[in-house]
Amino acid sequence: MIPPIASRFVAGEVPAVALDHARRTNEDGVKVILNLLGEHYREQRPADEDAAAYRGLVEDIAGSGLDACISVKPSQIGLDVGEDVFRRNFGEIVAHASERDVFVWCDMEDHTTTDATLNAYEEFAREFDGGVGVCVQANLRRTREDLDRLADVPGKVRLVKGAYDEPSNIAYTKKGEVDEAYREDLEFVFDRFDGGVAVGSHDPAMIRHAIDLHEEHGTPFEIQMLMGVREDAQRDLAAQGYEVWQYAPYGAKWFSYFYRRVRERKENLAFALRAVAGR
Ligand code: FAD
Repeated sequence: MIPPIASRFVAGEVPAVALDHARRTNEDGVKVILNLLGEHYREQRPADEDAAAYRGLVEDIAGSGLDACISVKPSQIGLDVGEDVFRRNFGEIVAHASERDVFVWCDMEDHTTTDATLNAYEEFAREFDGGVGVCVQANLRRTREDLDRLADVPGKVRLVKGAYDEPSNIAYTKKGEVDEAYREDLEFVFDRFDGGVAVGSHDPAMIRHAIDLHEEHGTPFEIQMLMGVREDAQRDLAAQGYEVWQYAPYGAKWFSYFYRRVRERKENLAFALRAVAGR
């Protein structure tokens, strides 16, 4: 069972509980991206099992009437086993989801996976006519070129600052540089991406900038934030009429995800402790 201290960030251990969370979140006007926790499988079996679990989740979502979609990690569905395993599993999930009108996001992991992830995304976004999205990280120096390549692909791009420690020859490593790159990438995508943009950030300054760019260019966009982070802002933005999606992880492997959230921001632990204390 997930202790209350972690349940701020994790939607449950099993799909039924995660879907209940999605239902409650939808009632606040916020849509939900469900992610089954798991990554870096070195063997094919767990990768295939999680791919099958995602196909089951897609069926649950399709039959539920919920505003929900899924997000998968490449190394969860086989990239560390082989690019062919990842592509097969990803293709099967997307085909299954496309038949049921459920959107599939692909998370982005460290820089060694960028090419394989973008290549698979491009192939399936073209084959399944935009039912797929991919995460792109502003901290990578290559990202502007990648965005240029992705601009005419009929899917969606989620722009984030980047969560992985990367070497300075391939990534901006100072916060100011990453913020500047993120702003510039936002300007680029709002100018060049007609199909829509996802702003994956909790940063009020970046969300303000995105809203200004939307008003200037008319480009459709959505705001994505993590479960347990700035949930008041998620509800407020949705109430103002913006499309807001909450990324909600679930599954038995919740501990390392919770630990990461706490490590990256001390306030997260304080919030969680206050929630446990009922304040
Ligand atoms: P930061 O630069 O961390 O903070 C900027 C400001 O935002 C802060 O000053 C504060 O005002 C506000 N803020 C941030 N966090 C909090 C908080 N906990 N509580 C209150 N205020 C806060 N990264 C990847 O590398 N690959 C992925 O696939 C990926 N997917 C993601 C999906 C979603 C939906 C989101 C939201 C993030 C994802 N990330 C991913 C993580 C991302 O790269 C960043 O590491 C993370 O979002 C932190 O950057 P930030 O823009 O939110 O804000």
